[in-house]
Amino acid sequence: MSDAKPRGRFLTLEGIDGAGKSTHLSFIRDWLAHHDVQAVFTREPGGTPLGEKIRELLLSPDTRASLDAETLLAFAARQQHIADVIEPALASGQWLVSDRFTDSTYAFQGGGRGVPFERIRALEEWVQRGLQPDLTLLFDLPLEVAAERMSGSRVLDRFEQEASDFHQRVREAYLKRAEAEPHRFAVLDSSRSIAAIQDDIARHLGKLLETR
Ligand code: ADP
Repeated sequence: MSDAKPRGRFLTLEGIDGAGKSTHLSFIRDWLAHHDVQAVFTREPGGTPLGEKIRELLLSPDTRASLDAETLLAFAARQQHIADVIEPALASGQWLVSDRFTDSTYAFQGGGRGVPFERIRALEEWVQRGLQPDLTLLFDLPLEVAAERMSGSRVLDRFEQEASDFHQRVREAYLKRAEAEPHRFAVLDSSRSIAAIQDDIARHLGKLLETR
């Protein structure tokens, strides 16, 4: 008889900056611990020593990168992340929670910057070989609400410094992704109170847990 553990679940968090991902990560951490789910928490770009260096480059306001270079860097970091962190965690039966994943590339480089979705899809197929999140929580809210919440919080990174029409296109690209792949997306109206959003998150995590 095989003693292989069942594969873990792959959960990703997405949304425009200021949508509340960081706020809800600690809730997810507590919820999973409370339900005895072993989980690895990670982020993109990043998650490995190489990935974190690429993250610094991608987010630094000093970086000048072409659209393709930026997209390729995101996928270079992702490949290392999948090989070193994501696949090993899932294979060992742990859940893997990533603050951003490929939907961010579709949203920021695709929607925001105008890289054709087909080009991103080609890299996705190459690097992920069919790997997809089991659940993607999309924190969705109007730009003005996100901007208001972020105001004065800290120095803005290269993406946060973009004009509001950029962020509007990012939001729209996310919603398009969610519409195209409704089986894995949960779109959460994040203009509501933290408690209301967390009720929804708990419901979605509960469903995912049941499918284990
Ligand atoms: P992100 O990680 O998605 O950029 P954060 O979690 O840092 O967003 O949230 C941005 C700011 O908005 C923080 O100051 C946070 O406390 C606040 N915030 C997050 N969610 C809500 C909410 N539902 N209602 C009011 N304020 C919120």
